[in-house]
Amino acid sequence: MNKKLFLILIGLILSVMTFTMCKSQSQSVPSTPKEALAELIAGNERYSNNKSIHSHGDMDRVTETAPHQAPFAAVVGCSDSRVPVELLFDQGIGDIFVIRTAGNNVNSEMVMGSVDYAIEHLGVKLLLVLGHGSCGGVTGAISEGEEEHGNIGHLLGTIRNDVSEYVGKIECLDAAIHHHTQVQVERIIAYPHVAEKIAKGELLVKKAYYDVNTGKVTF
Ligand SMILES: [Zn+2]
Repeated sequence: MNKKLFLILIGLILSVMTFTMCKSQSQSVPSTPKEALAELIAGNERYSNNKSIHSHGDMDRVTETAPHQAPFAAVVGCSDSRVPVELLFDQGIGDIFVIRTAGNNVNSEMVMGSVDYAIEHLGVKLLLVLGHGSCGGVTGAISEGEEEHGNIGHLLGTIRNDVSEYVGKIECLDAAIHHHTQVQVERIIAYPHVAEKIAKGELLVKKAYYDVNTGKVTF
């Protein structure tokens, strides 16, 4: 066999191997809370190390998911433009049911209705409440000074109720963000129908924190 043919053959084998690896990664859908968490951890590991594989992002996936959605996880995150949930977990179309509001507070019927939809109707295995560094929602809620009015005032007031011990302590912003995220988790798991799913091992509700400097999520 001449050298050129040999190199072409090696190239072909490597292409098939890469395709097979990517294909199997995109086809294994987490079916337990533990697997769902592992997938998000692995996805963020890839993302934060600049090794995202961007699976489930093409028109094949659009066609595949068009008849119905079956996401394996739901994430309640902040609307902050620096916290793009699918990207930072290296997930694609149909993988995660994402609920985003400024400050990721679930103390409203609209937001909890979306959480319930993900749990009851879509049967997600994992529900993650994702807080993040430098959160403007929590910053506004604990800052003293001129009060916001209207809808923004309502939003900040809702967050403020959950972090009241931090109001006026902007130097404790990170602690307030962690506390706020924890309060949302406790609020969600206090619902009997959620607690029942957790007790049966069908659902995991967890808090996490995204670092806007490093791209890393800590669980
Ligand atoms: Zn935020």
